[in-house]
Amino acid sequence: MNLILLGPPGAGKGTQAKRLEEKFGLLQISTGDMLRAEVKAGTPIGLEAKAIMERGDLVPDSIITAMLAARVSRPDAAKGFILDGFPRTLPQAEALDAMLAEKGLALDHVIELQVDDAALIERIAGRFTCASCGEGYHDKFKRPAREGVCDKCGGREFVRRADDKAETVAARLAAYHRQTAPLLPYYRAQGKLRAVDGMADMDSVSAALAAILRGGDAVDSEARRV
Ligand code: AMP
Repeated sequence: MNLILLGPPGAGKGTQAKRLEEKFGLLQISTGDMLRAEVKAGTPIGLEAKAIMERGDLVPDSIITAMLAARVSRPDAAKGFILDGFPRTLPQAEALDAMLAEKGLALDHVIELQVDDAALIERIAGRFTCASCGEGYHDKFKRPAREGVCDKCGGREFVRRADDKAETVAARLAAYHRQTAPLLPYYRAQGKLRAVDGMADMDSVSAALAAILRGGDAVDSEARRV
């Protein structure tokens, strides 16, 4: 099964993709994580992407599409994948359709996590992750059970994303509305779009997503056809 999680920054795509990865044995592919790894490693892609990401703008389609094509061609993607943060523009969506058609693959679902912009700013500004295992936390909504110690791996170092600053978040939200929101009618026209209330608590969102993946969305009020 291959799916896309769509939604603005802070909607919970990464958290939910990780849960679906564990629950359904799918591979999470986050273009944001891939770019952050390139930046950290100082590769040519990383050097080009760094300033763009810090401004909250989108990295050029050609770079992202080539990176994604290489990733979905790796053997571990054959079990099915969850795209988190890709596609973000119409040209990326079209390139993805062509790429999948060439491999004889298809998208099963495109799921929009719907959230209010006002809530996103608060969600993003407080988030941080464990530097060792990547477990996500939040100053207000999810602190580690023992202050300064990761619940999952015991790590004691935490990091915040450089682009989670308030100024950058506004630019990222603007990029979402201008460049990514047009994907909603694109996938609606393909009959693939579903919507989940991303303002619900994390477990309810996970349950709604699982219902869609199991094909039972008609019985779940959180997961509706749009
Ligand atoms: P994310 O972790 O998905 O919020 O992505 C962080 C940043 O990486 C974005 O603000 C963009 O600058 C860049 N980025 C990630 N995915 C894409 C994409 N599909 N297209 C263009 N830029 C991207």
